[in-house]
Amino acid sequence: MPLPWRRLRVTTPHRFLTAARQIRPLHARPPPILLALQRARLASVGRVQNRGKKTKASVKLDDLPQGVIPLEPLPLENDVKKPLPQVVRQARSNMQRFENCVVLTRVGGFYELYFEHADEFAPLLNIKRAIRLFGPRDNPVEVPMAGFPFFQLDRYLKILVQDLNRYVAIAEEFPNDKAGLPGQLMHNRRVARIITPGTLIDENFMDPFTNNYVLAIHVEDSVQESRHPGNSSISIGLAWMDLSTGQFFTQYTDLSDLPSYLARIGPREIVLDEDLQTSKDHGIFSVLAEDRHLITYSSPSEVQAVSDWAPMLESPVSPKLEKTFTAEEIAAGSSLLQYIKARLQGSKMKLQPPTRQLDVMGIDKNTLRALEIKKTMRDDLFTGSLLHIIRRTVTKGGARLLDNWLSSPSTSEDVINSRLDLVAFMLVDELLRERVMILLRRCHDSHRLLQKFAFGRGDADDLLALKSTVYATQELVATLEQDSEGETCIHAMIARINLDGPNALAQRIKDAVDEEGLVQQHRLEDGEAGEMQALAQAVVSSEGSIEDTNILPKGARKKKPTGLREYYSDDSDVWIMKSGASPTLTGLHGELAALAIEKEDLGKDLKNRLGAESLTLRFTPGMGHICHVKGKDMKLNLSDVRNVGSSKSTRSFHQPEWTKLGQRIDQCRIHIRAEEQRVFQSLREEVILNIIKLRRNAAVLDELDIACSFATLAEEKKWTRPTLNKTCAHRIVGGRHPTVEGGLEEEGRSFITNDCFVGDVQRTWLITGPNMAGKSTFLRQNALITILAQVGSYVPAEYAEIGIVDQMFSRVGSADNLYRDQSTFMVEMLETASILKQATPRSFVIMDEIGRGTTPEDGTAVAFACLHHLYYVNQCRTLFATHFHDLTDMVTKEEMEGVGFYCTNVVEDEKGNGFMYDHRLKEGVNKRSHALKVAKLAGLPDEAIAVARKVLDGHVRSV
Ligand code: ADP
Ligand code: MG
Repeated sequence: MPLPWRRLRVTTPHRFLTAARQIRPLHARPPPILLALQRARLASVGRVQNRGKKTKASVKLDDLPQGVIPLEPLPLENDVKKPLPQVVRQARSNMQRFENCVVLTRVGGFYELYFEHADEFAPLLNIKRAIRLFGPRDNPVEVPMAGFPFFQLDRYLKILVQDLNRYVAIAEEFPNDKAGLPGQLMHNRRVARIITPGTLIDENFMDPFTNNYVLAIHVEDSVQESRHPGNSSISIGLAWMDLSTGQFFTQYTDLSDLPSYLARIGPREIVLDEDLQTSKDHGIFSVLAEDRHLITYSSPSEVQAVSDWAPMLESPVSPKLEKTFTAEEIAAGSSLLQYIKARLQGSKMKLQPPTRQLDVMGIDKNTLRALEIKKTMRDDLFTGSLLHIIRRTVTKGGARLLDNWLSSPSTSEDVINSRLDLVAFMLVDELLRERVMILLRRCHDSHRLLQKFAFGRGDADDLLALKSTVYATQELVATLEQDSEGETCIHAMIARINLDGPNALAQRIKDAVDEEGLVQQHRLEDGEAGEMQALAQAVVSSEGSIEDTNILPKGARKKKPTGLREYYSDDSDVWIMKSGASPTLTGLHGELAALAIEKEDLGKDLKNRLGAESLTLRFTPGMGHICHVKGKDMKLNLSDVRNVGSSKSTRSFHQPEWTKLGQRIDQCRIHIRAEEQRVFQSLREEVILNIIKLRRNAAVLDELDIACSFATLAEEKKWTRPTLNKTCAHRIVGGRHPTVEGGLEEEGRSFITNDCFVGDVQRTWLITGPNMAGKSTFLRQNALITILAQVGSYVPAEYAEIGIVDQMFSRVGSADNLYRDQSTFMVEMLETASILKQATPRSFVIMDEIGRGTTPEDGTAVAFACLHHLYYVNQCRTLFATHFHDLTDMVTKEEMEGVGFYCTNVVEDEKGNGFMYDHRLKEGVNKRSHALKVAKLAGLPDEAIAVARKVLDGHVRSV
């Protein structure tokens, strides 16, 4: 049956509305299509102006509850007085109020940009910018405008927020209380949320595998001190959270450690106190300037004390933690919460109480980068990084946790061992591991799901996802219990899972939500989306341009619009709640069934009474409840009915009894919908009641996922379980480099294993040897093995015994990161300085070819000084690779007994022509760099090689 709006000859959206309104009084409630039509007033703003022109209502800013954004509204510009339509004026005032945001204004089925925002962003978003003229013909006001259909919001948000790093204020339509009065719009447009790169909630362009953190930094309020960039002892408070999971952390630190925290947290956005904006020479800016961080300034916090945090948290801050908070930490937490509150414009939320990451190995940002933990150095790519090589997780939560763990390995022997125990258990019982992984795959991303509910979002599908996650968790617990007799690590894990409330919740969801109905509903919604698209299409074709059609979604348009049936068609009622979901619902469904029988009886009765065999009782959105006859019945003489339509072969008429009954049926359906909503709301509330348990369970599943992932990895790569202890020594036998090994394997080459016994007797290993012989690889592999071990993973070695490391440092030869243009001697010295200042006897340092960026004499001097300092002052474990051979003599002269000499070498063939690397580390010193052999291998012309040899042999002398 063609829909009414299809039959109207559509020329403008305005005509849509007018035509659509005519059919409205027939129904108790406007069908969705009518609402859709109302929404489709895309280009009707110009006409709104005509309507608005009669009165001179101006926007009163105070009438609009705009939330707590601490921005002074700018003075209203003159153009507010100009004859602009109210919609445009509201948009203008939102632009003024949220001056650092791109304002998107919902108008019907579209989001619009106005004025300079249209000018600036239409080209970036690749949408059409149009100019509309308002006011008198001879002196019109020009308003640039651009827009896109509402269902593409995510796509354009991604460009604005994710790609362009913009803040976006979304002004939604809110029903206007004064609607209906002259000059009043149906809706007011009010900013409902501000979206910034750090405050995403459930936008579908978010990366599911990493956390999206916003970080607030509070600097000690002693301006005088802090003006010296060199003063690194300034106290700093940090607070960061991921709004999409509700995780919230705090930490205190000082300026010198800030870069490490920044590297570890990887914030998408940093919030600083507004006061700092005026002191640009503050030391913090030199730290922040090193990486391009997105910085937002916020005004001093209204929330000042930890007790003020309570309304935004799902449970109170642990008193133990609260006692240890520093003033800076509290200030950072307060300003973070204040900032979040402002961004969300007062929508309610429940965040997890803050935690502090304890017992964490410090890895500074150069080390994270040099060791290619999460990204490769050369191209900043994930592929090829350590995380990429080791990740075998099957859930998104597990992947995010692994990402976190890798940048913050533990320093607690107990924590590491309990993680390793789990891996060991999962490694042995392969079958169990597989079963666990299958069950984990059935779990949804609980953290992000739950956070939707915490924000008062979350739909029926999310309920079902939660339900299946709870059931999968139930099965997981049962499976683990069955197979883990006497395994304390498993029992400890199971004990942390609490299913008491969640089980009941899952049962309630199962009993209430009609899964099949929901599936059907989705089909209908697809149809409705198709309707909207068709509508947008129609609007575009009457008002827009060819380019506009390109932004319409493809394909779905072909679908038949079916949305109307949801409310009115008799046979295809689709309910998302089962009839037993509540007593009221049971009653209503009984009523509906009785009404269906009544309808059937009435149909039969009318057939008899009127003698019309073909009579059916129907409903159409255009005509309401009608009787429909065809064929010979058309000719019946029916006195007390009102004809409403006829065609060649059919005839429709109203019949009072059917109209009355039909209305009762509609009423009953509306009640059912309302009751469904009520039940739905109470389920949402029950989710919130269980949210703490559900979140804790989800955290356990993440850890279980990582344990399985590590076990799978260990099995695949034949890695071994490391032993951790409290000494300051490494004993690694047959160590390999996790990523280099894989690369060589792909080329059919094998990796030569090497041992490392740094610590105890030899605190420093001084490594010499020719280029390309494997010095750098050796240094890094030992650092990586240490990190993997302290994360709780098996390691690429035959045997590994590691004294727990408190901080990991690496200074990588400038030659290796020339591409970053950081090869200057200055940068090298800055990095070295921070290592020499911070390394403790528990630290692990790798120094690769320090002193390259200057003359050999100076380089040797600096390198020796560093070695000396690390050895005598820091007393840390150090692997020190150098090509300054003189260093070995100097060390010997100084009688530094704890320095061991190691070298790599090449193997020459008997005649001395060819050679190969054996990549084997031996004790001793190698003063032959074999540079000429390498040069020859690289294809340096024979003549050049000959000259070089003469120089070496002393035949050519510099003057
Ligand atoms: P160096 O720092 O001494 O110049 P690298 O550590 O950069 O040498 O190693 C150069 C290359 O040699 C590496 O890219 C790798 O392909 C290979 N290599 C290094 N160590 C080994 C090893 N232990 N076994 C096999 N190949 C190795
Ligand atoms: Mg090297």
